[in-house]
Amino acid sequence: VSLVPLEDAQRRVLAQCQPLRPLAVPLADVLGCVTSVALVAEEAVPPWANSAVDGFAVRAADVASPPVTLPVTATIRAGAPPEPAVGSGEAVRILTGAPLPAGADAVVMVEDTDAWDGRTGREAVGSATGAKVEVRKAVAPGANVRVAGDDIAAGQTVFEAGTVLGPGHLGVLASIGVRKVPVFPRAKVGVLSTGDELVDGGEPLQPGQIRDSNRRTLLALVAEANGEPIDLGHARDDEGAVRDALTDALGRCDAVLTSGGVSVGDFDYVKVVLDQLSGGAFSWMQVAIRPAKPLAFGVVQGVPVFGLPGNPVSSMVSFELFARPALRYVMGHPSPGRPRVLAVTDEAVSRRPDGKLHLVRVRARWERDGRVHVRPLSGQASHHLHAMAEADALSLVPDGDGVPAGAEVETMLLAWPAAT
Ligand code: AMP
Ligand code: MG
Repeated sequence: VSLVPLEDAQRRVLAQCQPLRPLAVPLADVLGCVTSVALVAEEAVPPWANSAVDGFAVRAADVASPPVTLPVTATIRAGAPPEPAVGSGEAVRILTGAPLPAGADAVVMVEDTDAWDGRTGREAVGSATGAKVEVRKAVAPGANVRVAGDDIAAGQTVFEAGTVLGPGHLGVLASIGVRKVPVFPRAKVGVLSTGDELVDGGEPLQPGQIRDSNRRTLLALVAEANGEPIDLGHARDDEGAVRDALTDALGRCDAVLTSGGVSVGDFDYVKVVLDQLSGGAFSWMQVAIRPAKPLAFGVVQGVPVFGLPGNPVSSMVSFELFARPALRYVMGHPSPGRPRVLAVTDEAVSRRPDGKLHLVRVRARWERDGRVHVRPLSGQASHHLHAMAEADALSLVPDGDGVPAGAEVETMLLAWPAAT
């Protein structure tokens, strides 16, 4: 079997995936989702002119030659109506976020005033009869006033189609009264483990048994990619069992991940079953990478099924290279892949020529020279899950004799590198 270059294999997978049908999803559920159309504001923010500070609403012309003492006729708090109007030669005490009353065209900050109660002579706030304010500084018309629509105008496009919604976006949508958002929905992604050796519970292991780690990891990777993980349990190494588990999953999943059973062993039934179920839409590839060489991929009833390898590191790396970009693509993501940077390796990365691209598990740090520096972790075999768990990044070491210390190496970031 000839080895398929990584990019070809990735292209082959993506070419068979389709974005999910967009849905109107409640605002509370769209964090991390991608807008399917441009969103237009039906309301202005702020909805009306209001005060940016605690102070006194005035007519700017009245305080043009400070100091000026004005009677304070009322207090307007946030949430109150914009009343009463400010007459010529008057001031109204106003709190941050309260609506600007008619007649006023500016707000003097409380820090630029002295306020007092006309009867007691003590510093006063508010509507006590006889309260006065001495304004010590002139203000320009419009000073400290947030005018209606100066953040968002009604009719404005707030976000283009293809926007990845973060916390701030959700706040903007809440501020304009949006209750449901047209987005690509979260993909429901089933995760199935295969293997006679796997056990689920906490019982002591019998000879030959191991605990299922891939399912836990893959479910978490799906959630981290903003998908909706669906635990499909595990299937025995039996053609019928694998077929039943997959068939059951197709009805309720937008995509399925399996692990194990895609190699060249006698009991590797996932690739056999996937081939049967998907008709022509199936590829079983030996990708020119290490780890994660075997990949079975098929589309069954419109559902992409990723047959990931069983070795724990391989299943994670295969998820990162093939499943994650495809899942994010079906969820409408404008940049489905992980970011890649040219990092500096602080330690030599040794390897031998074997016709494959090596994905080396590294610890990545953002150093003070502004660059990402990497160091290979110890434990680079495909069962060394512990090193994979501690990796922040995968360095892509091309076929050859490795990379000397100090050299640049293309690196795919799995997380935001910590700064030193
Ligand atoms: P396979 O691809 O099915 O031949 O599995 C390759 C290796 O990965 C074997 O050592 C399996 O025992 C191991 N493996 C398969 N599935 C899992 C799993 N869900 N959790 C942990 N190890 C697994
Ligand atoms: Mg197996």
